[in-house]
Amino acid sequence: MLTRTEGVVLKTQKYGEADLIATYLTSDRGIIRAFAKSPRKTKSRFGSSLEPLTHARISLWGKEQAALPKLTQSDIISSFHRIREDLQDFVGMSKLTEMLLCLIPEGIPNKRLFSFFINVLRAVTASEEKPKDALHIITQVRLLAVIGYAPRLKGCGRCGERSLDFYPDAGTTLCGKCAGAQAGEGKPFMRIHDNTIRFYAHSIEWPVHISNRLKPRPEVLTELSALIDRHITFLLSRKLLSSGFPTP
Ligand SMILES: [Zn+2]
Repeated sequence: MLTRTEGVVLKTQKYGEADLIATYLTSDRGIIRAFAKSPRKTKSRFGSSLEPLTHARISLWGKEQAALPKLTQSDIISSFHRIREDLQDFVGMSKLTEMLLCLIPEGIPNKRLFSFFINVLRAVTASEEKPKDALHIITQVRLLAVIGYAPRLKGCGRCGERSLDFYPDAGTTLCGKCAGAQAGEGKPFMRIHDNTIRFYAHSIEWPVHISNRLKPRPEVLTELSALIDRHITFLLSRKLLSSGFPTP
C-alpha cells in the first residue's frame, strides 16, 4: 500500500553499501523510520531531501503499520539549509532532535508536536539574533512543555509555597517542608534565582516566533540550561549525547 505524508528528517543511518534508514517526525504518524534505497549513489532521485531537518512530502510503500516502509518519493517543502550551515543552530537543533528521539516513542501521532517543530525550524531560520542562546533554550523548554515533560518551577510542586530549590528527581521545585524527606536522604537540589523562574515562565507562554523579545541575562540562560540538562539526565537516566557538544 502506498501512503503519502509529510515529515521532517530527524536523522539518517547508513544501511549496507548505499542504502539509508531515515527517521522522520511526520504530521500524522508521529516518529517513523523508512528505508531509502541507494540515496547515497549519485543522481539519486531523493536528491538532498534526506538531509537532516529537511521538511519534505514523502511517499511510503509497505503494509499498514509496517516497521520499515520503503521510501518511494521525497519532495522538499523546505530545506532549512541555513540551520545546517550555522554551527550554533545546528548544535541547538541536534540537541532538540535528540530530546525528541529519546523522549517520544515511535508511531504515536502528535499533530501539535509536528507543527511546533516546523515553527521552531522557521523561527531559528528567520532569527537574526547573534548569538541565539536564548532562542535555543526557549525551544527546549517549549518542547518539554508540548510533550508533557516540562519541569515545574512555579512554587513548591506539592504545596505551592514559594521555593527556589529545584529537585531533579521530583521534576519540580519543592519548599523546605515538603522536601524534608528528600533533603533528609541527601537528595541533590539546585538553588535557582527568581529571574530564571520568570524567564522560564515567559518561555513557556510566549509563541516561539516572538520569543526573541525576551532578553535574559547570560547567567539566567546558563542556569536554566544546567537545570534542563539535569532534568533530562534524570528522565533518561543518562546524559544526552549532544550535551557533550561544545557550546559555540
Ligand atoms: Zn511545599
